[in-house]
Amino acid sequence: MTERWLFGDQLGPHFVDDPEQPVLMIESRSVFARRRFHRQKAHLVLSAMRHRAAELGARVDYRQVGNYREALPDRPLTVCQPTSYAADRFVRGLPRVQVLPARGFASSREVFGEWAARRGRQRLLLEDFYREARVRLDLLMDGSVPAGGRWNFDADNRESPPKQPTLGAVEPWWPVEDEIDAEVRADLDRWERDGQVRFVGDDGPRRFAATRAEALSALTDFVDHRLPGFGPHEDAMLAGDDWMSHSLLSAPINLGLLDPVEVAERAEAAYRSGDAPLQSVEGFIRQIIGWRDYIWHLYWHFGADYRHQNALAADESIPDWFAELDQDGEVQARCLSETLRGVRTNGWVHHIPRLMVLGNYAMQRGWNPEAVTDWFHRSFVDGYDWVMVPNVVGMSQHADGGLLATKPYAAGGAYIDKMSDFCGSCRYNPKKRVGPDACPFTAGYWWFLDRNASRLEGNHRIARSLSARHRLADLPAVVDQEQNRPDSAP
Ligand code: FAD
Ligand code: SF4
Repeated sequence: MTERWLFGDQLGPHFVDDPEQPVLMIESRSVFARRRFHRQKAHLVLSAMRHRAAELGARVDYRQVGNYREALPDRPLTVCQPTSYAADRFVRGLPRVQVLPARGFASSREVFGEWAARRGRQRLLLEDFYREARVRLDLLMDGSVPAGGRWNFDADNRESPPKQPTLGAVEPWWPVEDEIDAEVRADLDRWERDGQVRFVGDDGPRRFAATRAEALSALTDFVDHRLPGFGPHEDAMLAGDDWMSHSLLSAPINLGLLDPVEVAERAEAAYRSGDAPLQSVEGFIRQIIGWRDYIWHLYWHFGADYRHQNALAADESIPDWFAELDQDGEVQARCLSETLRGVRTNGWVHHIPRLMVLGNYAMQRGWNPEAVTDWFHRSFVDGYDWVMVPNVVGMSQHADGGLLATKPYAAGGAYIDKMSDFCGSCRYNPKKRVGPDACPFTAGYWWFLDRNASRLEGNHRIARSLSARHRLADLPAVVDQEQNRPDSAP
């Protein structure tokens, strides 16, 4: 059987065809030397690769090298389609490498291509893609109708947080580090000391699953204890509760340790046995077979140049306090300081702080979307090219002019105040637009709209807000204030 080359995000059993298949794995230090990754991301990826190699034992040829090319053996290999344009181009240019279809997603490229072609000139709506996936995979279906008679429980899943410091969910499952983690930590320390690599963020206990067994434990624990609370507060944020009821499964799924269909099936089983409500299970399955796959396919569908889109002509650079994850504790805007603390200490925050705090601020300030994508990619444990490019360029920065999301995800302090407990003890006031305690998000929102009014003019979903700005007597003062807001931390 031809040897299988496994990339670092192809680590589960479904990336080999047979338990006896010989395997090649390449650990390339140049990946970490080229870009400044979060320390915990480098740790997780190396730990997961080395754990997989230890499991494979004599079947694996594990090569630790400076770069990929110098490590490639002179013999035939097969590889499942890699997950970035750069890696895909690379493997397809190699003479003895056969590229197989991608694995690790709930729908194939063909299925998506056929669906997109059928849409013709209609928008590629997530909702339609997701419903077809439910039917095709027979997930949460009662015959030909959706379980509970409804496809979508989104409207029930946007509740404000309860007025308490934490959601009260059971503590997530955490891995226990072992000697492989100790070895990874020692290597990263040495490389950093030798000046070969530089990291951002804190080192810390490994928080995310790095082996198949750990990933299954994390999945079981989530489904048994936390899935029932996943739905209603999916979008809420609490300063004292970093994890809420989120699954923390993006990292192990993106490492290839879990297959998304098995994850969705486990969630459905909890609904069928009466252990989790439909609203939560539907919300979760929508993320896994809907959003995740949709983002994956759009990465390829929009093409290699999509990453360079900059429809809002945003060219400002990212200031140091943000790039360094508020390492020096300068940020006083509580939503930003708490979110950056989460990224710094865990390499992870959930979807809403990514979209409505970090991404929202970056877009309001006009930071360059490619730089923002690169920052997200490097700073998050679950960040990979395929998932960051559409999520940042399209969803969060509206840099594609509305191909992915119909309106920019821009919001002022009122949204953050409604969905979090950040504002109560912030030095800024979410209701104020002008003055020393003007909320940078509220003022930034109006400045963003005003600055981009002509670019957003045809967008009917934002038309009301655009015209509402003319009713603000203090708009010139807001614009002046925000234009001159220093680059220093708010
Ligand atoms: P849960 O809230 O438990 O959701 C369940 C699963 O749904 C996730 O594990 C993930 O696999 C999937 N999912 C949900 N939404 C998305 C989405 N938009 N794109 C892809 N998968 C999704 N997710 C990543 O996996 N990697 C990234 O690099 C990434 N970058 C993001 C950047 C921005 C600006 C935004 C707005 C979102 C990004 N996401 C990314 C999506 C989402 O925020 C994370 O998947 C989620 O927060 C991970 O935590 P979790 O596993 O607890 O998710
Ligand atoms: Fe963030 Fe504004 Fe609320 Fe402060 S007042 S936490 S800056 S939204």
